[in-house]
Amino acid sequence: MGDGLAGRVALVTGATRGIGRAIALTLAEAGASVVVSGRDPARVAEAASTVEALGVPGLGVAADVASAEDVKRLVGEAQERFGRVDILVNNAGITRDALLVRMKDADWDEVLAVDLRGAFYASRAVARLMMRQRSGRIINIASTAGVMGNAGQANYSAAKAGLLGLTKALARELAHWGILVNAVAPGLIETDMTAALPPEAREGLLAQVPLKRAGTAQEVAEVVRFLASDAAGYITGQVIHVNGGLYM
Ligand code: NAP
Repeated sequence: MGDGLAGRVALVTGATRGIGRAIALTLAEAGASVVVSGRDPARVAEAASTVEALGVPGLGVAADVASAEDVKRLVGEAQERFGRVDILVNNAGITRDALLVRMKDADWDEVLAVDLRGAFYASRAVARLMMRQRSGRIINIASTAGVMGNAGQANYSAAKAGLLGLTKALARELAHWGILVNAVAPGLIETDMTAALPPEAREGLLAQVPLKRAGTAQEVAEVVRFLASDAAGYITGQVIHVNGGLYM
């Protein structure tokens, strides 16, 4: 415990499974107090107690990032409990894959609402606290799909590309208050999200990965830990790719 983030407060959305869970536990191991969030209350409670088992304060708040009300309550509860937020990780994300001509309006709207609008809501609410603190880190979990595009994922690719634009705009806008904003763009990572991929789609992607394997949630979390640390004090507006060479 305690390599650099002791006394910091982190808020991670979508922290109950996969990449978000690995990020929450890695920041906790580094000494941060961690607010974990997701839609399922039982999973949120379990993730919060796993954080606390690492010997740091944890708080679980069930919230849907697509809901402005929920995000307001999430950030309000974090502030009430800890008085500050130093690190925001916008990780919550979903896919609703379909080829363009078969894509339903709801597929488009839901993915944009969670993957992009959710990050806007959380960043806006947390930036108000960080501006008062005159410091903070916002880390957005984007995707290789946001830079390369992915057939069958027009909604997801557009949302993740939007997240990169949001990252760069906020990096410029919030630098004045010492708030650093970056994105981490994972490639193919082993989680529930990719377990749902058809085997041929998965093999097709893996064939394009020079390292010839999928990544782990922990390999993404390590980069987030670095970006949240004092060692990353001169990095803002950047996209860090964690993809085994899929995009370079
Ligand atoms: P995952 O295993 O499906 O986990 C998603 C997490 O987000 C869960 O904790 C889920 O909890 C939560 N979540 C989903 N919708 C939410 C909502 N509306 N509000 C709040 N929380 C919500 O996904 P993952 O693979 O770890 O992906 C995490 C992030 O990495 C996503 O942004 C994804 O786009 C990105 N990413 C993943 C990969 C990959 O290969 N896995 C690659 C590139 C980028 P509940 O269901 O309980 O809400």
